[in-house]
Amino acid sequence: MSDVEYLRSKLASHADFPKKGIVFLDIFPILRDPIAFETLITHLLHHLTSHTIPSIPSKKIDVVVGLDARGFLLGPVIALRLGAAFVPVRKQGKLPGTCESATYQKEYGSDSFEMQSDAIKPGQSVIVVDDLIATGGSAKAAGELVAKLGGKTAEYLFIIELMFLKGGSKLDAPVYSIIQSD
Ligand code: 5GP
Repeated sequence: MSDVEYLRSKLASHADFPKKGIVFLDIFPILRDPIAFETLITHLLHHLTSHTIPSIPSKKIDVVVGLDARGFLLGPVIALRLGAAFVPVRKQGKLPGTCESATYQKEYGSDSFEMQSDAIKPGQSVIVVDDLIATGGSAKAAGELVAKLGGKTAEYLFIIELMFLKGGSKLDAPVYSIIQSD
């Protein structure tokens, strides 16, 4: 079994969560199993270090940005292994100090993400990480925050990509996902 098939086999799906008609893909069974978690992180690190990402031919990633909330579980592990900084993007009102904010559309209404204004230096190369991309709205807002601080998003990284929603088409850099789902 390939590592992609192995990780796919570890996902759980929950019908009608968080509300009727939605099938929620749950990554927590991967984190519960240290061999699966190691496989996940090794897969992502192999991707980031052995493939040349066009916008960072030097392969030097300065910052890993993780999205509230499951991006916080992946981002710091990836950042530590790369020797890069970890920077959180949080829902509005949760971060201290001066922050930049960006608004994104949710199914009903909108929400805002924030990043601390001194978290990224102009010109730094950035990877944005979350567990799943659906419409791409939250990843797009994170990319806007990176751009406001002068960073360059080189790639958006996810465990799962919901292909039918075409979220990647909203983003200013390529998407890499381990598992593509219909
Ligand atoms: P988007 O902004 O791309 O529409 O939604 C992506 C965000 O919603 C991510 O932060 C992701 O964690 C969450 N999300 C939406 N649907 C799912 C799902 O089925 N499974 C998981 N794990 N997260 C989801």
